Amino acid sequence: MKGIVVNIQKGLYKVRPVNGAEDISCTLRGRLFKQSRTTKTLVVVGDYVEFQPVMGGRGVITTIEERRSKLIRKGAGKKGVHLEQVVAANIDQAILVFAVKDPRYNKNLIERYTISAKYGGIESVICFNKIDLIDPPEIQEDVKEYRNIGYTVLLTSVVVREGIEELKSLLKGKNSVFAGSSGVGKSSLVNAVFEEEKARTNTVSTSHYKGRHTTTSSQVYELPFGGRIIDVPGMREFGVIDDGTGIRNAFPDITELAKRCKFRDCRHINEPGCAVKEAVESGLLEERRYRNYLKLRGK
Ligand code: GDP
Ligand code: ZN
Repeated sequence: MKGIVVNIQKGLYKVRPVNGAEDISCTLRGRLFKQSRTTKTLVVVGDYVEFQPVMGGRGVITTIEERRSKLIRKGAGKKGVHLEQVVAANIDQAILVFAVKDPRYNKNLIERYTISAKYGGIESVICFNKIDLIDPPEIQEDVKEYRNIGYTVLLTSVVVREGIEELKSLLKGKNSVFAGSSGVGKSSLVNAVFEEEKARTNTVSTSHYKGRHTTTSSQVYELPFGGRIIDVPGMREFGVIDDGTGIRNAFPDITELAKRCKFRDCRHINEPGCAVKEAVESGLLEERRYRNYLKLRGK
C-alpha cells in the first residue's frame, strides 16, 4: 500500500494511505531502520512510502519514494558550519505570505524566500495579504514586477474576504506550505480557506483540520477539494540557501543585463563596462534591488 507520511514522533511514522483509509502508525523495516539512525532525515513529513499492514493495527514502511522537492532549513552545526536539513518532502509550492501593511513587506525578504524555495525545487506564489488596509494602486508596481518575473501573485484580504477563492484554486490538488514572518496572516488565510469550504459544502467536519496547532511536530492537512497544506513549525521563516540557480531565477533582469558587461566574469561591483552598474546609475535598475542582489550572492 502507498501513503504519505503526515507526522513523525518518537520513531513512529504516521502514514495516510492514498486510498483514503485511516492514518496508520508505522515503523521502519530493518534495513531502513538502520539507515535512519545515521541519516536523521531518511523519512520526513511529505514523503511517499510503501507500507505493509502488520499485527496490532500497525504498519511497516518498506520503501521510500524519491523526493520531488525538498523544503530545507539552514542551521548552524558544530564549529559554525552550515547544515542543510530536509524538513519536508514533495512540496509543490510555497505560498509566501506578506502583509501590505502591519507589518509592511520588505522586498529583500521576498527575494530571499523565492530563492530558497527555488533551491529546493519548490514553486513560489507571492501572496500580498491585508489589502483591505491600503489603496490597491499603492502596490501595483511591485505586483507588476513580480508577475513579470513569472511568479503568481495573489492579493488577499481575510477581513473583507478577497482573493480566497483564487487561493483555493491555487491550493487545489497540490502540496503547499505557507511561509512568511509572524503576523502577516498565514493562520488567518488557512482558516479562511477551511471555513469557506465548510460553509459552502455545509459539512460538519473539515477532514483533519482543527486550526493551526502549537506543537513542535509537522502536520499535514487534507484540503476538502483535494491537495494538502503541510505545516512545518519553524519553517514560517526560512533563511536563504542557493546554488546560484535561485538567484538567476529571482533576478532575470540582472542576468539579462549581465550579458552586456564587458567582462564575462564581471562581478558587477566596480568593473569597467559593467552594464549592471550602468543600469543602476541611469535609474533603469532599482538601487535597492541591486544591493540585495549583491548581498544575497555574497552570502
Ligand atoms: P500569522 O502569524 O502569519 O499566522 O498571522 P495571523 O493569521 O495570526 O494574523 C496576524 C494578525 O493579522 C491577526 O490579528 C489577524 O486578525 C490580522 N489579519 C490577518 N489577515 C488580515 C487581513 O487580511 N486584513 C487585516 N486587516 N488583518 C488581518
Ligand atoms: Zn557587470
